[in-house]
Amino acid sequence: TSTPGGKPPLYKIVMLGDSGVGKTSLVARLTNPDRPLNHDISATMGIEFDTQMLDTPQGHKVKAQIWDTAGQERFARVLLPTYFRKAKGVILVYDITNIKSFESLSERWMTQLNDHSNSDDLAKLLVGNKSDLTSESSGDNSSSSREVTAEKAMSFCQEYGMEFLETSAKSGNNVLTAFEKLIGIVHDRA
Ligand code: GDP
Ligand code: MG
Repeated sequence: TSTPGGKPPLYKIVMLGDSGVGKTSLVARLTNPDRPLNHDISATMGIEFDTQMLDTPQGHKVKAQIWDTAGQERFARVLLPTYFRKAKGVILVYDITNIKSFESLSERWMTQLNDHSNSDDLAKLLVGNKSDLTSESSGDNSSSSREVTAEKAMSFCQEYGMEFLETSAKSGNNVLTAFEKLIGIVHDRA
């Protein structure tokens, strides 16, 4: 539903996925697109969130409150209920050059999602990040480091009923599109 003349609705979105896949870089690219990717920023400690005004694909103005995790090693179980509380959408991120990060989604992150939220009520988007590292994008056929095909990702999506995009936090490719797509699904359901 919309709020004519009123304040844009606020929706909580959570980032999920292994440490190193680029969650923090994606949020940073969204909220501060001119800042170059900073390789010196170490893995996020604890929980933090950023807010960002976004337009849904249907043209509604909404505010996204995007929560970012510490990555699996340091993520304290006691924080999980807080992390998922009142979340309306989730971006599940893997690194297309790292098959383990993709396998973690079904082996670890989907379980946490189901344990700590009413998963069916959450809008979900699958994001394969680091698309700049493939030969398809560089035009160099000899140096592809892709380990997860789009086909594989799409069959995962069908299983869990979610949409899929490949992004690059480095080039910015599809980053805004990904957040707008998810927020559009959230807004349509609200
Ligand atoms: P997080 O642990 O999931 O938050 O991942 P980070 O955002 O900290 O990123 C981990 C590493 O991957 C950093 O060195 C980033 O610079 C790098 N990185 C993140 N996104 C991309 C991307 O799209 N392309 C490339 N080439 N590197 C990326
Ligand atoms: Mg991080």
